[in-house]
Amino acid sequence: MNLRLILETLRQSAPKSRAVLAELTGLNKASVSSMIRDLIAAGLVREMGVPEMQSEAGRPAINLQLNPEAGYTISAEIGVGYISVIVIGFNFDIVAQRYESINPETSVDECLKNFTALLADVYQQARRFGRRIFGIAVGVPGLVDMERGYLLFAPNLQWRDVPLRDMLQPHFDVPILVSNEANMAAFGENYFGEGQHSRLLLYVSAGVGLGGGIVIKGQLLTGATGLASEFGHMTVVPDGLSCRCGNSGCWETQVSETAVLRRVREMILAGGRTPLSRWKEQLTIRHVVNAAEAGDEVANAALAETGRWLGIGLASLINALNPEHVVFGGSLSVAHTILVPHIRAEIERRALTWMWDQVSFRIAKHTANAAVMGGAALIHDRIVTHPLTWQSSMGYAL
Ligand SMILES: [Zn+2]
Repeated sequence: MNLRLILETLRQSAPKSRAVLAELTGLNKASVSSMIRDLIAAGLVREMGVPEMQSEAGRPAINLQLNPEAGYTISAEIGVGYISVIVIGFNFDIVAQRYESINPETSVDECLKNFTALLADVYQQARRFGRRIFGIAVGVPGLVDMERGYLLFAPNLQWRDVPLRDMLQPHFDVPILVSNEANMAAFGENYFGEGQHSRLLLYVSAGVGLGGGIVIKGQLLTGATGLASEFGHMTVVPDGLSCRCGNSGCWETQVSETAVLRRVREMILAGGRTPLSRWKEQLTIRHVVNAAEAGDEVANAALAETGRWLGIGLASLINALNPEHVVFGGSLSVAHTILVPHIRAEIERRALTWMWDQVSFRIAKHTANAAVMGGAALIHDRIVTHPLTWQSSMGYAL
């Protein structure tokens, strides 16, 4: 716990000397010095070259920081229509990044073959730098049994029962952590995005689907079996449109890229005049956002209605959870200037004032990279929590 305290203090406020660390953590100087010795030996902390100030005794106080060369984390995401991988240093600088589009019709086996190849390629590349690799985080848009690294169901990929970690592990000799991508993103926003130090952060991500996560005092809320925060599948219209999860009227059917495009098409069919009609089946969310920003009424109305539904669900979540921060991310958040006034208006109408008044509503810091940055944060947090035994903490036996 004390090692964690020191590493966390350095993560958030380095550079610091041993004396200042003792002061900030309330630990005595001798034990700080001895723990710093262990952390330097483990390669996680390093002394900085030039002393910045003199200690009382006149000896230069040497500043410490997390060792940016401690090692790399690889973080990857299997999305709907793409795979993405980053390599990130211990100081969170991205040192390599790869992205590939995948035809959403591609079979599970084919997609995983491509994914494993991309991951292996990046892994070999990172190995060539000669630094250790802490682990690999893999985010997927579905229900994940984190203990087993097993994907139970991904509605928007239509994947079921994929033993992801077991399939990937033979190719890599570092721990692999599989998680829901929105949970990862929520954790990342709390770790180094919007809403740091939050007592309760509610993250909602709207894109191809609607997902999210809850982080309470730095801990991801996993639920009893790791499946918590499937907000997108809360029923909001009892006899509504059918959802890819098997239910009907899920929140996701009202708030997603598909929902925005559906609204535009419905308005065109009802006689709405918009330059968007020329795109027909090729219409994308980018077209709608661009048109809305250029003042197109149909595009604005489709986004307004989507914002309204986002607000309806958020009001209930705010009432249920009493969050300190609500962070809105995902691909739809690029349209936040148009969406947010409608989201806010609906929340104001429906949420209990005593709760909503206290909420800090933010737009996510990480959009396209949200899941991979969050995955890196999850692994980083494991290392900081178990600095000398992080491998076994990730369920990886050497
Ligand atoms: Zn659903």
